[in-house]
Amino acid sequence: MREGITVDGRHYDVGVRCYFCDTPARSFIKCTVGHGGYFCCERYTVEGETVNKRRVYPDCNSAPRTEESFLNRDQPEHHTGTSPLTRIPGFRPIATFILDYMHLLNLGCMRRLLLHYWVAPMGKKKHPNVSTSSAQVSLLSRRLQNLRTQVPAEFPRKPLGLADLARFKANEYRLLLLYVLPALLKKILPKHQLPGMENPQCLLYKHFLLLHVATRLLCSPDKCVERAEYAKQLYRLFFENLPVLYGQDSQIMNMHNVIHVADDVIELQCPLDSLSSFSFENSLGKMKKKLRSTNKPLAQYCRRLGETNTYSAPRKMCHTKPRFRLTRRGHASVHYQNTIIRPSQPDNFVMLHDD
Ligand SMILES: [Zn+2]
Repeated sequence: MREGITVDGRHYDVGVRCYFCDTPARSFIKCTVGHGGYFCCERYTVEGETVNKRRVYPDCNSAPRTEESFLNRDQPEHHTGTSPLTRIPGFRPIATFILDYMHLLNLGCMRRLLLHYWVAPMGKKKHPNVSTSSAQVSLLSRRLQNLRTQVPAEFPRKPLGLADLARFKANEYRLLLLYVLPALLKKILPKHQLPGMENPQCLLYKHFLLLHVATRLLCSPDKCVERAEYAKQLYRLFFENLPVLYGQDSQIMNMHNVIHVADDVIELQCPLDSLSSFSFENSLGKMKKKLRSTNKPLAQYCRRLGETNTYSAPRKMCHTKPRFRLTRRGHASVHYQNTIIRPSQPDNFVMLHDD
């Protein structure tokens, strides 16, 4: 790390730009308390409270945790030991640990809203204020299934019905959060009557839109940095209004962490999709496919890689020109970078970005 490496006479500096981990893995390698601990917030020195046997972190204005305060252990309750990573020169324990949005927003917030609040899982008691009726759930499920034929090939998974909600993958939650739920949820979530309000309003829907708009802005490659501060305000509003709609025990660590998501985009100056574990999860799937048993996985993987490099022709990973394909049935398709265009719906539309 201090000296860099030299390959074929060229010198390269080496540094760690960021770490991608889920919450338990972050607390494990940083040697900090786990996500139910009183002082577990990685960005603030907030102390948790216990409400209905759940640890919640309602304060979003406490003193920020800095690189120095972490290394000096100014809040000893946050630490469980000394992380071996502190021996790395220039180690930055706060800014380099990304709050991964695949786990945090898709598998965390989105899953919680759907599974625990709006649609109660089989056998579980429904949330009294916010859960939808069976008729509304089946309407939402039908709307989702009707969308299957409308989702283009770029999305790795097509939406399933709500019966499979508990088995949804992060990619399915991403599709719901970023693209389809704002349209599908309209007039489905129950209306709310708050003190001083004359007519009941779709507060749950508007509250969800805060999460949707903020995440969409941070996922936009051209707008993410410019609108990050605005997205931060929306996330904060989302978090602060959780107890009004979902009860005092709703501000758990996963929900609390949304107020910090925009800081990563500001720090690393790139959109959320570049700051997520999605690409690593895909690679993990490919790595797993190469293994034949659970015995010595690393050695097995190195051998498979060696075989691939020895016996297969080198493949060009980057396609700068469009490739045309014709299937046996005579269907044509064009593959260009990460896009597939076909003559039939839903892959026959193109949105151009030039002016
Ligand atoms: Zn925090």
